Amino acid sequence: MMNHNVMAPDLKSQINAVITAMLWISNSPVFPGAGIPEFMALLREFLGKSQKKLMMKRLKDGDGKGGAKVTSWIDSMRASSPPRVRPTIHDCDNSDLLRPSALNVFDQIIYKSRGKKIITFLDYDGTLSPIVADPEKAFMTEKMREAVKNIARHFPTAIVTGRCIDKVYNFVRLAELYYAGSHGMDIKGPTKTRNSKKGKRAVLFQPASQFLPTINEVEKILVEKTKSVPGAMVENNKFCLSVHFRCVEEKSWGALAEQVKSVLNDYPKLRLTQGRKVLEIRPNIKWDKGKALEFLLRSLGYAKSQDVFPIYIGDDRTDEDAFKVLRNRGQGIGILVSKVPRETEASYSLQDPSEVEQFLRRLVEYKRSRVNLTSVETCRL
Ligand SMILES: [Mg+2]
Repeated sequence: MMNHNVMAPDLKSQINAVITAMLWISNSPVFPGAGIPEFMALLREFLGKSQKKLMMKRLKDGDGKGGAKVTSWIDSMRASSPPRVRPTIHDCDNSDLLRPSALNVFDQIIYKSRGKKIITFLDYDGTLSPIVADPEKAFMTEKMREAVKNIARHFPTAIVTGRCIDKVYNFVRLAELYYAGSHGMDIKGPTKTRNSKKGKRAVLFQPASQFLPTINEVEKILVEKTKSVPGAMVENNKFCLSVHFRCVEEKSWGALAEQVKSVLNDYPKLRLTQGRKVLEIRPNIKWDKGKALEFLLRSLGYAKSQDVFPIYIGDDRTDEDAFKVLRNRGQGIGILVSKVPRETEASYSLQDPSEVEQFLRRLVEYKRSRVNLTSVETCRL
């Protein structure tokens, strides 16, 4: 019987040759629109799972020569960015990456949470608001604001975002929420609680405050350096910087990534991460959205509690840290917002912000029905 996990040397070398060609084409200005996903779709039916894994590993590692990391960032950015022609989940055959719709299995989720305290953690861009060309105009709808407001009435709720708190607060405008900005490096509590109607937002945690002068210095250098790339935008998110690729032509992505990387050569205490059409520069400390989630659970008094059911909803690679924390704790659920299946630690999916709004509304309806049921039962006693 043929062992599908062992490849003949000639097949292996053929695949390596194909991958090398794919990497070259994907970087080539001659084929600005060429992307790895399109080639993967063409080759998928000719390759078994093990061969596909080898290919993905090589793509992740890059070509093993100079520029490999930039290639890897660009490929990841393409993979995590919405494609121009958006396939729906049903159009894709990546069945191992499919996650059930949190709307379709809503009752199952509620069953899992029975007897536990639900806490909601919500990313902002791409989750509560659509991804738009100008990040300054990523407004959420009034319907979404109402849904988040109602959620916060029934469950402790936190916004966990890469944006700085002031900016995301201007979008959300709900004082009763917790906010974890700058990828969780700036955590503040509500200014409006049941006990105190109004007040100053309490700083709960800022693990990277000593990096502020460096971040501001690097922002100026980046703005200067990226001027030559049309559409490039640098956003200061207080404890981290975002270089947006949303309005940059795809053929210039490699050049822009190289420029960003070159700036960081002089700042070893900063590191680069990538998201949806964005490269982010942040302090090289062990802190991310997952750590922020754990910190907030501790702050709310649920560090070791088994009676808590956190629900984290996010669309970005940076949200994977939080999904992973929940998976490792065996508590709550992660919900990925994505129209296409992709590698994720989340257990469920929603397609876009409008589905997130529906999910939040159903959670509120469920909670209200429980409250009404309890009232009726109490009256009967
Ligand atoms: Mg997001």
